[in-house]
Amino acid sequence: MPAAPPRRTPQLDPAAQPLTALSGVGAAVAEKLAARGLLTLQDLWFHLPRQYEDRTALTPIRKLQPGLPAQVEGTVEAVERGFRYRPMLRVAIGDDSYATLVLRFFHFRSQQVAQFAPGTRVRVYGTPRPGQHGLEIVHPSYRILGGAGEVELSDRLDPVYPAIEGIGPAVLRKLIDQALQRLPDERAIELLPADLLAHEALCVGLPSLREALLTLHRPPQGSDVQALLAGTHPAQRRLALEELLAHHLTLRNQRIAMQAHSAPPLRAVRRAGALRKSLPFALTRAQERVFAEIREDLAKPVPMLRLVQGDVGSGKTVVAAMAALLAVEEGRQAALMAPTELLAEQHLANLRGWLEPLGVRVVWLAGKVTGKAREAVLAEIAGGAAQVVVGTHALMQDGVVFRDLALAIVDEQHRFGVHQRLALRDKGSAGTQVPHQLVMTATPIPRTLAMAAYADLDVSAIDELPPGRTPVQTVVLSAERRPELIERIRAACAEGRQAYWVCTLIDDSDEVVAQAAQSTYEALTQQLPALRIALVHGRLKAAEKQKTMAAFKAGELQLLVATTVIEVGVDVPNASLMIIENAERLGLAQLHQLRGRVGRGSAASSCVLLYQSPLSQMARQRLATMRETNDGFVIAEKDLELRGPGELLGTRQTGLAAFRIADLGRDAALLPTVQRIGDALLKTSPELAERITGRWVGGAARYASA
Ligand code: ADP
Ligand code: MG
Repeated sequence: MPAAPPRRTPQLDPAAQPLTALSGVGAAVAEKLAARGLLTLQDLWFHLPRQYEDRTALTPIRKLQPGLPAQVEGTVEAVERGFRYRPMLRVAIGDDSYATLVLRFFHFRSQQVAQFAPGTRVRVYGTPRPGQHGLEIVHPSYRILGGAGEVELSDRLDPVYPAIEGIGPAVLRKLIDQALQRLPDERAIELLPADLLAHEALCVGLPSLREALLTLHRPPQGSDVQALLAGTHPAQRRLALEELLAHHLTLRNQRIAMQAHSAPPLRAVRRAGALRKSLPFALTRAQERVFAEIREDLAKPVPMLRLVQGDVGSGKTVVAAMAALLAVEEGRQAALMAPTELLAEQHLANLRGWLEPLGVRVVWLAGKVTGKAREAVLAEIAGGAAQVVVGTHALMQDGVVFRDLALAIVDEQHRFGVHQRLALRDKGSAGTQVPHQLVMTATPIPRTLAMAAYADLDVSAIDELPPGRTPVQTVVLSAERRPELIERIRAACAEGRQAYWVCTLIDDSDEVVAQAAQSTYEALTQQLPALRIALVHGRLKAAEKQKTMAAFKAGELQLLVATTVIEVGVDVPNASLMIIENAERLGLAQLHQLRGRVGRGSAASSCVLLYQSPLSQMARQRLATMRETNDGFVIAEKDLELRGPGELLGTRQTGLAAFRIADLGRDAALLPTVQRIGDALLKTSPELAERITGRWVGGAARYASA
């Protein structure tokens, strides 16, 4: 009788195996993992340590530095258990370096107290910080060492994983150990074609994916500890490269999907030309160039996806207005959406001023437009009588139906999410066609970052200010010198100029800031009795705010006390003095926006940044940057350096902060490489591209949509 063929186990792709294949993962654990987007073995391979703990050495207590995690070994010298305000345990340990370290616990059990009998040897890991009596570590991780004799040190770094609710770190480590044992050989998991990498200087010497994963999860003895802790180890770079690539491919794919739609070509430019002629100024070269880029896009039967970056005051609005006219001239509609009512109202005023003389109907839609008025506007939008629609988020609501939206313009992209941008796009109703999209932002993004954040958009820059503007002089002053400012304001107003006084607070609840602004307003009114002063803040009724802003713009008011509601877009060229209180509390981008409210006319303008001492190192650098430059692009680079990309882009809209290993600040140099490899992959092996994005973005995407 012939031998029975060996029983075959079905060949499952190990990457796709469910986590229940691991021992110790039943339905309950699987559910907790799934809640974090971890469904398959592959998801676990890519659940990377977020940092490492270095227990390979001991630091003498005397050498400890506040803020730097370290491991020490010492003998318990004293124990104190306090109850006065809340339970507390303090354990002092000392070592041969004749220094003492305090371990402080707020939560502890009685057995723990018993463990720390004086004379006991303990090994402790944690981050020291200054306490009442020298350095202390709050809730260190520790180990009681038995009697005398050496206890071996760990010979490798300990990975620390992003926490998963309901699964302890030790259990998670064991699961990952199991998953790593099933890591297939190189060829089965390597997705980056060797020949593509071979052409890239930055890829030389990078390990394979398998090697990189093993190194990062379980750094072998002798690994470059400093590089791993700093995130610059070749294994980290290898994975960062692939993660950035996955992200890039996702955005490129969105763009490809978008451009598979058709859009109405907009070619007639007679009216845009008429607007150009009617303006009281000539467009700058940069404005002309960007408009030409937009025109070229709009002439095509595929949707434009273009971001216009331009510093505050560079004149983006008029370029948008000209673009809108291209849609109008083809008998279609354009919409302009702004993030705040104040800004949208200003766009409305500008667009009406420019377009109505050309016979174009411009309508207004905001949340405050209700009842009959709203119905009437909606009817005009649906019927097509409204040729240009200006408004806030209200434009995206369900009830708003355009007859034929051909161009969606979104101002200040940063305040909107990508999803909102898409929502406006979806208002295009002309059958299978989608509208062209124009996104405008006044917060320049460093080029490298723009590449990563906006791989789905083309980018234009209005990199020139209209002529005749004198750069704003910036002065940084301690709040104690506030009295000098009163004179300064009086002098500016005596020359017929106007001034802003901006109040900010740490607690930016509308109410608290409004109160602070109110009391500043009262104080200034007393100190400057001859001036016409008004107050605007977020708690005022829209109509009231609008009235005040209009009066300021008309020159009827001399000093405007405001909260940061005036941050975006307020345009009063006669204002030449800006005072920002507590400037140390604002980020660079916001300070730059606020400062951009002055220097919009031909008068020499100044901006005074008042700060409260003491200044943190970071705040000092920010204020110095503001004093040194007016260039939004330089400020953006500095902001990236100081704060990192997550903050800069805002985490909400981009998901960029959700990188597992890449760090745009640290890994920015990889981006051009990523772009080249990505474009080559899409051309030659789209199926590989899909597997790469699935691996990195798949789990997270499932998580996000769950
Ligand atoms: P931003 O790019 O910050 O949105 P705006 O579009 O609000 O700038 O323009 C700022 C001011 O400059 C407005 O008063 C606008 O009318 C004016 N402006 C725009 N382009 C020019 C130009 N080429 N020459 C002179 N003034 C201009
Ligand atoms: Mg603007």
